[in-house]
Amino acid sequence: MNGIIAECQVCKKRVKGSLGVSSNFIWHLRKHHPNKHKEFKTKKAESSTKLKRKNSFNQNLLNFIGDTCSPLSVLEHKSFLKLFPAQHVPSRRTITRLLAESHQEFIENIKMILDNIQYVCVTADVWSGGKRSFFGYTCHWLDAQTFERKSVALACRRFPGSHSFDRVAEIILEINEQYGLPVQKILYTITDNGSNFVKAFREFGVSLSK
Ligand SMILES: [Zn+2]
Repeated sequence: MNGIIAECQVCKKRVKGSLGVSSNFIWHLRKHHPNKHKEFKTKKAESSTKLKRKNSFNQNLLNFIGDTCSPLSVLEHKSFLKLFPAQHVPSRRTITRLLAESHQEFIENIKMILDNIQYVCVTADVWSGGKRSFFGYTCHWLDAQTFERKSVALACRRFPGSHSFDRVAEIILEINEQYGLPVQKILYTITDNGSNFVKAFREFGVSLSK
């Protein structure tokens, strides 16, 4: 499978191995060229620390963007770049991709946790800032072993248009679905007594028990 023959750059001997698995070649180095092998090990360790450093820098950037709700354009600002003269700051495109990946990871992680929980409670609320409305949805449960209270924000989404009861029900269903949260798992939903919420649950509840 994917067998290849490579010529050793030191002794010109041909070494059999396979594509993607370097163990045969490394074994050859270790046996016949111990000095080169040592060099190889050092370089490998270096590149792995470099990669780790880069990854943690990128992770810090993601945290910064998320924690401060900063626009991604800040990463291209001259003054921002000046803060890290010795560091390659990834492009906005790369960070956008990393952000999406990190968000997906977060969702998968929460899904895995919720999968193992028997019951949860959620809260739902809509609020406005300026001319924009947002839908906030949080989830709460007790850790089965420690009985510690656990919470997570499942969504804080833009909620444009009218906040009618059917749209409230729709967005709740959508978020539940995104996290693989079956309604049977949700013991209580806490909201204010806004008529749209009250009606959403009255209608929603009825449709569930049918
Ligand atoms: Zn060799």
